[in-house]
Amino acid sequence: MPAEASRGLEFEELPIFERGAPGRSGASLAPLDVPEVSARAALGALHRQKPAGLPEVSEPEAIRHFVRLSQKNFSIDTQFYPLGSCTMKHNPKVNEWAARLDGFASLHPLLPDRLIQGALELMKRLEAELAQIVGMDGVSLQPAAGAQGELTGLMMIRAYHRAQGRSPRKVFIPDSAHGTNPASCALNGFEAVPFPSGPRGVVELETLTRALDSAPNDVAALMMTNPNTLGLYEEAMPEIAALVHARGGLVYGDGANLNAVLGRARPGDAGVDVMQFNLHKTFTTPHGGGGPGSGPVAFKRILAPFQPSPVVERQGDRYVVVHDRPDSVGRVRSFYGNFGMMVRAYAYIRELGPEGLRAVSDMAVLNANYLAARLKDRLSVAVDTPPLHEVVFTDRDLEAKTGIRTLDLAKRLIDYGVHPPTVYFPLVVRGALMVEPTETETKQTLDAFVDAVQKILREAEETPDLVRRAPHNTRLSRLDEARAARKPRLRWTREAGE
Ligand SMILES: *Cc1c(COP(=O)(O)O)cnc(C)c1O
Repeated sequence: MPAEASRGLEFEELPIFERGAPGRSGASLAPLDVPEVSARAALGALHRQKPAGLPEVSEPEAIRHFVRLSQKNFSIDTQFYPLGSCTMKHNPKVNEWAARLDGFASLHPLLPDRLIQGALELMKRLEAELAQIVGMDGVSLQPAAGAQGELTGLMMIRAYHRAQGRSPRKVFIPDSAHGTNPASCALNGFEAVPFPSGPRGVVELETLTRALDSAPNDVAALMMTNPNTLGLYEEAMPEIAALVHARGGLVYGDGANLNAVLGRARPGDAGVDVMQFNLHKTFTTPHGGGGPGSGPVAFKRILAPFQPSPVVERQGDRYVVVHDRPDSVGRVRSFYGNFGMMVRAYAYIRELGPEGLRAVSDMAVLNANYLAARLKDRLSVAVDTPPLHEVVFTDRDLEAKTGIRTLDLAKRLIDYGVHPPTVYFPLVVRGALMVEPTETETKQTLDAFVDAVQKILREAEETPDLVRRAPHNTRLSRLDEARAARKPRLRWTREAGE
């Protein structure tokens, strides 16, 4: 206790490894009633040389530590969280109820098909609903995140070309794309070829044609996010897709921004061949802590043979899991994917229905436009076109006038109880501040956000140091982000901890 007190019992949350005492435990085990086995003899060379450095704490120590940590967290259940591109919307609690139903939550992933008919039916129904929402022919629920969905889609594109005796290598990507797009290409052995979007913030046909014609026989695919990361709809999508198809390539759609177009536009109708969903963004699975997520891929019929294996099929009156898929890219995730996320997405879609999903997009777009309209006279917008679901501001004029930059504004927002919006993305915007309010916020919340930003803009002129040194009302103030990025310490070690 004195040691902890001296290091600040209240303010500094010591790691669990620095708590407790040797030999302390929160569990009491019954006496051994079977013959003792020597682990060393049983495991041989696999036996640990040294005991694992596990925390040795009492139950209350462990409980208090983790509950305190949870209270220091920023969450969508406690505050406004307008993190652009992440769709941090409220997650209806009925989804949680559904995912926790014993018949879903307690399933063992190795149960035989005949004992999991309900779960397989839910998967099949969800596949059909997702396919219908985006105008595609089939869906694989396996990928566990948006980025893994991208990778899976690109693997399918590669398998498709190979089946035709071709092996084009280039994947064209506009410079406004999410960083995961080029990363997925590289991971799959493709070459990412960036090209610039136009001054209006969308892809221009002439620029794309020129890029494609630099390697007309080597076009594997185009990756497009629509609406793009500036929150703008790529209206030329059908023409864009035709240019790619004419050169033998396929069109990959990054579907992470689907929240803006539900019930309004379907990527499949606009020429997209394969795309991923981010169920944890659009279809309300809690996220923000790094998972678990779910990134199903939807595809046109021509790509169906290559989808991940196994697949769920309906045969007569039964659902069966089919493993014999000779053309499949194989398994991309253990078992069936993150099943709990599928239950949540299914519950959400059934709860809202087609009209509800359409209303989601209407409100998401209205909310973003409301923020843009109320703020753009004080804070410059990156592109002066009415946005869809998110609006991107720039610190160009703010910095020229006050020296205050996007990072300062974002940090000061924490003092006003708001999670900072996405900053410095997309890269094509100088000092970008990307705000995605989502449809689940009320006008009062949006007004409070506008008030906070306006107060900070006033502070930027009158007391700039207050903004530059923010946040002030948090446990830790401004962190050294450059050092954190260059010398990340991702793991606790006894040496560093002491
Ligand atoms: C979030 C996002 C991704 C990546 O999704 P993860 O689930 O985080 O892997 C890809 N593209 C866009 C546009 C996104 O917003």
